[in-house]
Amino acid sequence: MLVNGAVVTGKGASTAKGRSTDEIDQIRVLLRSRFEELNTEYEEAVTQNHRLRLVEIGDAAGDDQADSGSKTAERDAATSLLRTLLDRRTQAEHAMQRLDEGTYGNCEGCSNPIPVERLEVFPSATTCVHCKQNRERRAS
Ligand SMILES: [Zn+2]
Repeated sequence: MLVNGAVVTGKGASTAKGRSTDEIDQIRVLLRSRFEELNTEYEEAVTQNHRLRLVEIGDAAGDDQADSGSKTAERDAATSLLRTLLDRRTQAEHAMQRLDEGTYGNCEGCSNPIPVERLEVFPSATTCVHCKQNRERRAS
């Protein structure tokens, strides 16, 4: 069976509904393994973060200023890592949901199909490059 046939040919072929079952299965496997990877990383980061805090509470009494400053920086870095991992995990989860709904591969912003090349690199992308840039511009 030719998997690519449905993607390359004809009208509507580039929408999610035009994707072949094989292709969708492949994406789902990819997204699930990505989700699990992120989940593991996230849980490790949570444990580490927790340990960091315990150490901090334990030593707080003997701290000088410089010491507590570097600890704050360390904690901030850990917190922002947690946030990033959580964001990515949510995104992978979200992409899996869209896959189930049959809306995967279409941009959430302009609802045009997201180029296959982009999905190959970022399987959890739910917007096209253009809308992503717009969104980031608005957020910053
Ligand atoms: Zn878009």
